Amino acid sequence: MRTWLCGLFLVAVVARGGAPYSIETTVKRLADPRWEGRGVGTAGIDSAAAFLASEMKRMGLEPGGEGGTYFQDMEVTTGVKVGDPCAVEVKGKRFPLGESVQPIGFSTNGTLEAPVVFAGYGITAPGFDYDDYAGLDAHDKIVLVMSNEPGEMDSTSRFDGNVNTPHAELRTKAINAREHGALGIVVVDGPRYHAGESIRPPGSEGYMSGGLLAARVTQPVAAALFDGSGMTLAQAQEAIDSRTRPHSMALPSPARLTVTLQRTRAHTRNVVGMITGRDTSRTLVIGAHYDHLGYGGESSLAPDQHVPHVGADDNASGTAALLAIANQEAARAKAGKRPTHDLVFCAFTGEEMGLVGSSHFTDDPTRPLETVESMLNMDMVGRLRNNKLMVMGVGTATGFPELVSRVNAKTERFDLKTSSDGYGPSDHSSFYKKKVPVLMLFTGAHEDYHKPSDTADKIDYQGLTRVAHFAAAVLETLDARPRPTYLVAQADSGSLGRIAGGGGYGAYLGTIPDYMQTQGGVLLSGVRSGGPAEKAGLLGGDVIVKFDGIQIDNIYDYTFALRSRKPGQAVRITVKRAGAEKDLVATLGRRP
Ligand SMILES: [Zn+2]
Ligand SMILES: [Zn+2]
Repeated sequence: MRTWLCGLFLVAVVARGGAPYSIETTVKRLADPRWEGRGVGTAGIDSAAAFLASEMKRMGLEPGGEGGTYFQDMEVTTGVKVGDPCAVEVKGKRFPLGESVQPIGFSTNGTLEAPVVFAGYGITAPGFDYDDYAGLDAHDKIVLVMSNEPGEMDSTSRFDGNVNTPHAELRTKAINAREHGALGIVVVDGPRYHAGESIRPPGSEGYMSGGLLAARVTQPVAAALFDGSGMTLAQAQEAIDSRTRPHSMALPSPARLTVTLQRTRAHTRNVVGMITGRDTSRTLVIGAHYDHLGYGGESSLAPDQHVPHVGADDNASGTAALLAIANQEAARAKAGKRPTHDLVFCAFTGEEMGLVGSSHFTDDPTRPLETVESMLNMDMVGRLRNNKLMVMGVGTATGFPELVSRVNAKTERFDLKTSSDGYGPSDHSSFYKKKVPVLMLFTGAHEDYHKPSDTADKIDYQGLTRVAHFAAAVLETLDARPRPTYLVAQADSGSLGRIAGGGGYGAYLGTIPDYMQTQGGVLLSGVRSGGPAEKAGLLGGDVIVKFDGIQIDNIYDYTFALRSRKPGQAVRITVKRAGAEKDLVATLGRRP
């Protein structure tokens, strides 16, 4: 009952001083399927940006973007378009794009004529004592592999059987083929469970280059490649699956593979509004990303459903809370309680693509970053359960743990779960890596995470209102305090890391990659204190280009490399530092 009254109190305060505003209406509006899941590159997200700017204006916020506007523009790669030509030719027969062949989004462009080898499921998995490449020469070849992994739908499989392991990912298979010297990979669905299925156009597998030609093909194409080998694809699959033993071999006919893909680019924008404080040399940033996954794609957990992922919790909830706080603070300022700091309200774009909007903001800030004393982030705050609110980043400045618990005791009395770390898969990371103290609010993961079922009817509006109330109180407390002192926070295995798909698998090096670098190696924003990378002498600013013999061009290569090595193993890492290459040796650890 108490909490219910608290929510009413906030509504009353806002209604008395500020513009009329409803958190619930805002979430429903942002999460309307007509706004296309607010995917970068859609018209829907542009409508959302225009709406947010008009709301900020209506509430009395000043423009905080570029050139006197509420916007900060940027251009990003959003995906790929299939070009012409794309085809596979075997023994003079041309299999066309569409019904027989589809390029994979991370393919390079070009034509390749080469011998073909069949490499089973294309998997090298020492942990499962299984290697399709054992004794197979894939050098300068096109590799034909099946999708998924041995023993699909077989719960007695050495692999999981019920769900695919990361070895089944197309990207993993492609990098594995490339690391075995292959120049091209063609992927076919095994006939055992997927006979006659049509093939998907590129999209869900991402578009950062895999470093080789890559295409999906149908079973008739595979049949043409198997012709004359004395075996069919179905027999080869049976031979592998029945004993979980590879059955790789050279195939009789060479093939000619052609792929043409165009990377698509799109404009997108952060929406920024501000309230000028009494001391304009001091800034507090409060942010929430307003983009989501659009129609699905690589980060979707329901990638086969090409429907708007409306992201009501992720992150219409945080965006609606951001506006609620903006409205409240604008009303306070109007009523004579002008804040000490400039308050900058950021609705970030491109978070789901890898913190694109917030990285752009911190790399090219609309006001000097040195003036930013703290950043408060909200991401997925609409599903309060059991009164439990997670607050991350309390280790990033002196006094944060006390500040947070004192504000909580005076306001909402949540059951707070705090964690120290300032890094995590949301926009506060972009600030923390620039040494800005951060706090991040989160009501927890759920089964609708990154699925089309993350809808507005499942939001707890009462809870969301309370989170906004709490966040506003944190902001006002920060505003009343001297500049907090930045701290290097302890890494922790938080629940956010888990929902982002990290943790628990493969070896640990303790690096903090800069997700903005998309090719030419993996740029490190920093290294975890006390982790294997730090012990090996890696530094923020290093670009990892080779890892234990594996070429590292992008984050996928790097993830593959870490997954393919075991804790305790010593590895040679080549980094580019100040224009020169340097070799370092690290002993891999286990994830904390
Ligand atoms: Zn999010
Ligand atoms: Zn998300």
